Amino acid sequence: MFGQMQKQALLISNLIKHADKYHGTTTIASVETSGGMVYKTWADVAKRARQLASALEGLGLQNSTCCGTLAWNNHRHLEIYFGVSGGGNICHTINPRLFPAQLSYIINHAQDKILFFDKTFLPLVLALKDQLKTVEHYVLLSPPDAEASAQFPELKFYEDVIAQGNADYEWPEFDEETASSLCYTSGTTGDPKGVLYSHRSTLLHSYAIAMPDSMCLSARDKIMPVVPMFHVNAWGVPYGAAMVGASLVLPGPGLDGESLRKLIDQEQVSLALGVPTIWQGLLQALEKSGSTKTSLKRTIIGGAACPPSMIATFRDRYGVEIIHAWGMTELSPIGSVNNLLKKHDALPLEQQWAIRNHQGRPPFGVELRIVDDENKVLPDDGKAQGNLQARGYWVVDTYFKKENTALEDGWFATGDVATIDPDGYMTIRDRSKDIIKSGGEWISTVELENIAVAHPDVLGAAAIAAKHPKWDERPLLIVVKREGREVSEASILSFYEGKIAKWQIPDRVIFVDSLPLNATGKLMKNKLREEYGNYLLSDS
Ligand code: AMP
Repeated sequence: MFGQMQKQALLISNLIKHADKYHGTTTIASVETSGGMVYKTWADVAKRARQLASALEGLGLQNSTCCGTLAWNNHRHLEIYFGVSGGGNICHTINPRLFPAQLSYIINHAQDKILFFDKTFLPLVLALKDQLKTVEHYVLLSPPDAEASAQFPELKFYEDVIAQGNADYEWPEFDEETASSLCYTSGTTGDPKGVLYSHRSTLLHSYAIAMPDSMCLSARDKIMPVVPMFHVNAWGVPYGAAMVGASLVLPGPGLDGESLRKLIDQEQVSLALGVPTIWQGLLQALEKSGSTKTSLKRTIIGGAACPPSMIATFRDRYGVEIIHAWGMTELSPIGSVNNLLKKHDALPLEQQWAIRNHQGRPPFGVELRIVDDENKVLPDDGKAQGNLQARGYWVVDTYFKKENTALEDGWFATGDVATIDPDGYMTIRDRSKDIIKSGGEWISTVELENIAVAHPDVLGAAAIAAKHPKWDERPLLIVVKREGREVSEASILSFYEGKIAKWQIPDRVIFVDSLPLNATGKLMKNKLREEYGNYLLSDS
């Protein structure tokens, strides 16, 4: 027997309808690519999204056509999120930091028919254009621009395109399992793989991130997603913000610490989200400004391990609560968020803080487990370390245009190595490719890096497995010093004493000017291994 409740599809258009009706006057502050601020409301975004959906129909784009974007976090990109998906097409956000060959591969593989892009990426698009086989419309995210037209005569302009659309457009109804958006992973080996989200998975993910023990999004928040809208849908924040009617501050292209500091201050941002490298920049800018005051109440950090020293600095110096979260493109992205349980109130502060360093617990809708190399499930005892697997409402089943499921036994293998404690707090120990296997024992590079960056003279650090004649692999630490500071190898190595077992301490320290980051801001350890992997062989 079925229940007898109304059956309404979980559609992205319903999010923007809700934001329009119940939070229509709430502001969306947006930094323009050309500089300066624009202030819109949810009602403006909803209207312009309807116009866009209608205009796309006018261009003959319908029924799951892929629409590519190469864009910063701004109000036009937000309108595309809702206008493209709401109209039944697929919003394909593309990471402009990928290599040109990867970009053309992705755009051709997705068969994008339209490409929306910010002016920053005009030279990139001009260079790529001849290799793009399916794109019929190139749309610059701006009003008409004579300079751009001169370089690219067939270029269309977003403001012209939406002016052709009907503001009274009615959102279509369709199956909630319809594809809504597409992101490619930044695969370090092989071609990037596409993850095709559905309206249903996106709405369920939005509920999950909004929940109080998750990211706790609220109509009372002013949220600044610094995590790019081209990286896993800015962690779902645009959808979650529409669901709860939060005000948004979209930072555009200026992602350096000082620009962010000023914007946070000017717009009185209460919640910001981004990867650790972004917050390292903000902390440096705050330090330089000499001010310890900030409107930020909470910052959600994920995408890479957040060093405990960063959590402590935000907390102790600026009174900002850091919420550590873990996820991945294949998980829409949220897999876990770190908040304390009621019982932890009784613990001394140091113990509460120690718990906050983990990557957190899964919200309802996603399950995590660890397994050994034979796929045998390991205990959640906080000690056993194994391959992390996930399943749930917003976890990938099959990569885009691949025949076979990506699952083993119904679970998605994340490629991360983790421990899970009896309360479900998960700790990422490493990517399985990165972990150091020294004489049969495993050493976590994340742990080595967390300690190194707590050293007052160290700005950034990467630990890698270097080949070793006796132990197979030994840890090698690659360090970027803080500006104007001097620090010796011995000082860094002695900093490890008492913090970890002696045999886990890196063998050597190498100083470099900068560390290689990939398109999503993650350390490219494969590159470092290529360069320094034999260092200890020549050294010994
Ligand atoms: P991506 O799909 O590009 O977002 O990358 C996902 C990967 O980033 C995960 O599999 C992890 O290896 C890493 N990652 C994300 N969040 C964290 C975190 N909080 N701590 C450690 N690693 C993380």
